[in-house]
Amino acid sequence: MNTLIQNLRERDQAVNWHPYTQMKTAGEAIPIVSGKGVYLYDDEGNKYIDAVSSWWVTLHGHAHPFIAERVFQQLNTLEQVIFAGFTHEPAVRLSENLLQLLPDNQGKIFYSDNGSTAVEAALKMCVQYAYNKGQKKTKILAFKNAYHGDTFGAMSVSGRSVWTKPFGSMLFDVIFIDTPARENLEDLKIQIRNMASETACFIYEPLVQGAAGMLMYTADDLSELMKCCRESGILMVQDEVFTGFGRTGKLFAADHLSEMPDIMCFSKGLTGGTMPMGITSCSQDIFNAFLSDDKYKTLFHGHSFTANPLACTAALASMELLLNEDTQAAINRIGEQHSGFASVLARHQNVENVRQTGTILAFDFKTNENTSYFNEIGKILYEKFLRRGIIMRPLGNSMYLVPPYCITSDELNFIYQKILEVLKEDA
Ligand SMILES: *Cc1c(COP(=O)(O)O)cnc(C)c1O
Repeated sequence: MNTLIQNLRERDQAVNWHPYTQMKTAGEAIPIVSGKGVYLYDDEGNKYIDAVSSWWVTLHGHAHPFIAERVFQQLNTLEQVIFAGFTHEPAVRLSENLLQLLPDNQGKIFYSDNGSTAVEAALKMCVQYAYNKGQKKTKILAFKNAYHGDTFGAMSVSGRSVWTKPFGSMLFDVIFIDTPARENLEDLKIQIRNMASETACFIYEPLVQGAAGMLMYTADDLSELMKCCRESGILMVQDEVFTGFGRTGKLFAADHLSEMPDIMCFSKGLTGGTMPMGITSCSQDIFNAFLSDDKYKTLFHGHSFTANPLACTAALASMELLLNEDTQAAINRIGEQHSGFASVLARHQNVENVRQTGTILAFDFKTNENTSYFNEIGKILYEKFLRRGIIMRPLGNSMYLVPPYCITSDELNFIYQKILEVLKEDA
């Protein structure tokens, strides 16, 4: 084996600062030398099932040859071009294809680099929408426990937590409301109506609050809140960065809802997990509010790599795979297998709050401590699964599975067995 690869662990520690990682106690990062389908291979030849789709991005498995081939062709044709004053086939086609699949009211696509920037662009669209119309609406509404990203605007609309604490005084004020349930719906609607005149938008993760620990609520309850927002003139920003592209069992969480959002945010699965890219889509009405002879009504927002042709190409290839009958069947099959295992878990004495939406399965490991990201139990469980050849990243004592759609029935059953094994060990 190449000696450079052999000491990757030490070289990494000498130069790299990893995300969401306490570098003092984290220990060496595992060098991954290749990926194939649902597996990742480390420098010692061990293989791991990527049960979290590498932070929820990988849809069709690692190093997918179809996506690789398309990106390679594009790389030899046009790798990048400024997207102000210029355009290109992959961006036009991707926007056309995506708009075909999104709710009918979505009319325009705005490109950026990642989920956080897709959210930033969405917030700016909403606040400037009001500004351009001469309305005084600057308040923003969000759910408690929300997670919308790590840049300042995205942090501001995320629930206040240990993650945002050092920046507390620098985050703009946001009104946080509970996620909807039958009991509080009427109360939430009253809160929404009361602040309608000053509120620019409501931003939410539809159906599943991912980073909060895969907390779920129903499509019917959300649809009711959305209806209330629409009637109150509050713009809706639906953050589908995580839920988009099949995760919830349908193409988009929007497909479960009876109301349409004004703006939608995408990233993560957008390119099948191949390349970074963010998208903010919006209704024609929002777009129209920026059309003016007054150049100050322009949306002054953009990133160097806006609509990068390679990322657009990866997204086109990934969407082609996603719409394939076999992938759709796999998504349904994963959902069915999950619900079978959910009923096994529900009867388990060490398990509580079993929940599932499509290909996302989550449950809490019963513990006396508080559920929080810093709970030691998360780290212990992480290592137990790693030793068994499975990558899971519990959020506190919440464990979840978000597998790539290429995972086989046997591979899923293997993970389920290992979960039961670990639960037994800790009984
Ligand atoms: C991950 C995530 C983001 C942020 O995306 P990044 O690409 O990590 O910046 C935003 N919203 C939701 C719902 C997410 O899950």
